[in-house]
Amino acid sequence: MPELHGVGVGRGTATGPVLRMAEPLGEPDSSPLQGDAASAKASVGEALAAVAADLGKRGQAAGGDAQAVLEAQALMAQDPSILDDVHRQIDEGTNPERAVFTAFKSFQDVLAGMGGYMGERAADLGDVAQRIIAQLRGVHAPGVPESDTPFILVARDLAPADTALLDLDKVLALVTRDGGPTSHTAILARAKGITAIVGVSSADELSDGQVVIVDAAAGAVVTDPTDEQVAEAEKKRAERLAAADAPLTAGALADGTAVPLLANLGSPKDAANAVELGAEGVGLFRTEFLFLDSPYAPDVATQKASYKALLEAFPGKKVVVRALDAGADKPLPFLTDSGEENPALGRRGLRALRHHPEILRDQLTALAEADAETEADLWVMAPMVADVEETEYFVSLAKELGIKTAGVMAEVPSVALLAEQVIAAADFVSIGTNDLTQYTMAADRMLGTVASYQDPWHPAVLRLVAQLGAAGATAHKGVGICGEAASDPMLAVVLVGLGATTLSMTPAALADVRAELKNHTLDQAKALAAAAVAAPSAAAAREAVARASAAS
Ligand code: PEP
Ligand code: MG
Repeated sequence: MPELHGVGVGRGTATGPVLRMAEPLGEPDSSPLQGDAASAKASVGEALAAVAADLGKRGQAAGGDAQAVLEAQALMAQDPSILDDVHRQIDEGTNPERAVFTAFKSFQDVLAGMGGYMGERAADLGDVAQRIIAQLRGVHAPGVPESDTPFILVARDLAPADTALLDLDKVLALVTRDGGPTSHTAILARAKGITAIVGVSSADELSDGQVVIVDAAAGAVVTDPTDEQVAEAEKKRAERLAAADAPLTAGALADGTAVPLLANLGSPKDAANAVELGAEGVGLFRTEFLFLDSPYAPDVATQKASYKALLEAFPGKKVVVRALDAGADKPLPFLTDSGEENPALGRRGLRALRHHPEILRDQLTALAEADAETEADLWVMAPMVADVEETEYFVSLAKELGIKTAGVMAEVPSVALLAEQVIAAADFVSIGTNDLTQYTMAADRMLGTVASYQDPWHPAVLRLVAQLGAAGATAHKGVGICGEAASDPMLAVVLVGLGATTLSMTPAALADVRAELKNHTLDQAKALAAAAVAAPSAAAAREAVARASAAS
């Protein structure tokens, strides 16, 4: 097994010996309760409190996104309905460890059955249960192994509590067997800039002490590498470190062609970090992230305050805000019909907003008011648009409510197939490659079993991007990219070659993309794009571009 494959997170490369994480605690047996129910309940109460306190402490130590995740876990440990279930089982004669296990498991099954974002949270609940059972047994909770020397951490999956607190001087990279691109492990690894590969199905074959190269860009774990492979990996690592230290120039190709590099954000509090990393504006502000936990539609004043905080961080810069994209993996209680069997193909994005036009009107009003009181250049776009009529609906409503620049996302293949007409009806288009890939390949982006289809290098996806790019160039209108594809440096060059005028990505990816763009002229980018589009598969497109790039 010279090479194992999974989903790479970030662009990093690391070489080192494997250290495996301890396996989870075994399932508690169902032996009857010893002693009286009251003291069993008291010991569970103490264990819950200790685990919640420990998670809270870890959260405070970690700060940022990790703190929110760990605090959510601490709340899970104290969930009253789970505790009721534990008490009921103890009263019926079940031992406390078993009662905790069963109560958390049934809650976990409910979440897993919901799929999407909620499904991904099921693992968090399982981790909380393990910590409580370890506390009851008086043993250490399963967690990251201790070592005096740096290592590559290999685990089935990593709990948020562990990922958040990884000692980055020791953990060179992370490899997990489970988890997809949207698991918490991946989210936290990306936010912390940890080199990681998740969903490596044969990760169980890796053993302690075995030296491996983790190449996140290639999604590959190279086992027992040769000296040359190690030297090559070291070179890549050094180049990446140099790129991170390079001056924060504006995005441009080798011939000076400007390619503005923008940030994908989900909260105004992330703006400062994006500016620090050289973002030239915002290419996608995901407004639904502000209201994921809100049971009611937010009012105009609440929204305006958030949008003003965002716009104030980018005076004079372009900020593209997306109207609420509710549905599928991001359900909003006040917009989403939870009874749909196939929510990714249901009433999501603009379809949901059209069903609740008052929510869309409030949001556009709040945005226009925030724009009037700030200095940023606000652009607003609609998600999940399917055709020209929907484009016209959104653009005219946005203009009526005071939005100066209104556009649509290209995420559904129908919009790319109608590129000329759609672009004629909008001020700009922004391509969401995550959904465009999902819908072109008919593969649920949340589903690990079809993750191999979720590859934006697929020539079928690239051909749709090419159509949009060509239509934008003819109409002299911007065609940006705001899906994850823009954060893959080589693919970013291809996308520019296909006609993308801006690239928007998670801020941690800006340095790598900025560095790669400088290696190619526009003509070279077009030649690479032609090679990718002509390939028969995603893998062949990657190879063709790597070959053509090395030769140029
Ligand atoms: C996309 O689909 O590529 C996109 C940027 O939107 P989201 O990931 O929020 O669905
Ligand atoms: Mg999308």
